[in-house]
Amino acid sequence: MKKVGFFAMLAALIFCLSFAGQARAQTSGATIVLDGQALSLQKKDKVEIIKGSVMVPLRVIAENLALLVSWNQQKAQVKILTGTGDIELTIGRMTASVGGAELKLNAAPVNRSGTTLVPLRFIGEAAGFEVGWDNTKKVVTLASSEASQPTPTPAASPTPIPSSPASPTPTPALSPTPSPGTTPTPAASPSPVSGGQIKGIGWSDDRLAISFVGSLVPKTYAASDPASIVVELPKTSFDPAFASIQNFDAAAQSGAFAVTDSSNASRVKYAVTDIAAQTIAITIELTGNKTFTTYQEADFETSVFVIDLRTSAVPTPTPAIPDNGKKIVVIDPGHGDGDPGGVGATNKLEKNFNLSLALKVESLLLNEPAFQVLMTRRDDTFVPRPERASLANAANADAFVSIHANIAEGKPTVRGTETYYYKNSGKGLADIMHKHVLSATGFTDRKVKNANYQVLRETTMPATLLEVGFLSNATEESILFSDSFQNRVAQAIVDGLKEYFGVK
Ligand SMILES: [Zn+2]
Repeated sequence: MKKVGFFAMLAALIFCLSFAGQARAQTSGATIVLDGQALSLQKKDKVEIIKGSVMVPLRVIAENLALLVSWNQQKAQVKILTGTGDIELTIGRMTASVGGAELKLNAAPVNRSGTTLVPLRFIGEAAGFEVGWDNTKKVVTLASSEASQPTPTPAASPTPIPSSPASPTPTPALSPTPSPGTTPTPAASPSPVSGGQIKGIGWSDDRLAISFVGSLVPKTYAASDPASIVVELPKTSFDPAFASIQNFDAAAQSGAFAVTDSSNASRVKYAVTDIAAQTIAITIELTGNKTFTTYQEADFETSVFVIDLRTSAVPTPTPAIPDNGKKIVVIDPGHGDGDPGGVGATNKLEKNFNLSLALKVESLLLNEPAFQVLMTRRDDTFVPRPERASLANAANADAFVSIHANIAEGKPTVRGTETYYYKNSGKGLADIMHKHVLSATGFTDRKVKNANYQVLRETTMPATLLEVGFLSNATEESILFSDSFQNRVAQAIVDGLKEYFGVK
């Protein structure tokens, strides 16, 4: 990888943003020549000229200029990590931030059917390339800074810039709405910490998932030797149970795990890097793809910050369901991998309970000729909540059942079974499922409640979320993990589905 220095002449940028002679906007291609070599752009790489600026897909920047590129879905923001100062651009915004300084653009980044186009010259120069433009031939030339020896940037080490002026868009706050006459769920109250507390870190399907309670304000930057993405998390601590569920040296306040199933990354490290400021850094050591997207998803129990290194949006697999008249039921074991869900009284993990019970439900349903069962996960994998919902929607499922266990932080005596729905279409399913599950658990009846869970909100079929019992209660934790108990509850879930669909 070429060492790309940060071009110090920021002021010069302001004067040379426009391509000479390009007066009118037009849509046409352009050739890009990097260090004498014409880039072979793929057919899908639509290059446009907007207001005299050659606009190229982000992917072209990442792959050809060897820069780390991050895309924040929530902020519609592109961040190009140069290692010495980040470039931040926002779709539709005429200014960009370069190493913290606001600069004007000739043309704002645009989105063209899912592809983000960004101004090549601006980014090239900000990243230390010498950029030229032959207006007659429509050729952009880029010369990497090695030949021209640009002024070195003052900072030798990566300097994360402060977060953008616009405060990060929080995922919509989901406030549970207990039904009248029911006790509000203690588990629903957010953690009182002003920053965040990390519960788990995991790698699944080229995605790093960091689960947390509270709030995280991640700063992402690039580092070299080895090429890495670093996520810095101020005001963040590790959950007390973290050391018991992850590879973690409590004395050194650091840990790591190898990534073995990816061509893009080799290792993930995590450590407290500043005790006074409570800063944690999480590092992904890269071996491949340098384009990634970030997003946060929040729900009642745990929120997750995701760094997604997959090169293109992976379409939701549409299961081939023959129209054989069977009822299609999606069983959704909550959480997974880096998102452990609740951590029990003796540190047993909710994600493991959910999966174990869900697999039992699946095997029972496989013996029911009236049902076709689909699972959102069948192993310890992180699956983002929107993907769980879209799998069910794409399959045109008839019912969605999400399996969870509960936590009441700091209230070890709270126990019982409760069942959720969000849309009215899910109420009937929730009522019947609750009746059967409650009778199988024999726990306290915490009733059927209405709450805005993402998987309940985003699914289009009747959907329910079962909170079978409380892991934070030592007695219920032990019962929840008993095999015979799980078999009984699995049968109750199947019985509930049969009653709901009128299956004999
Ligand atoms: Zn859960």
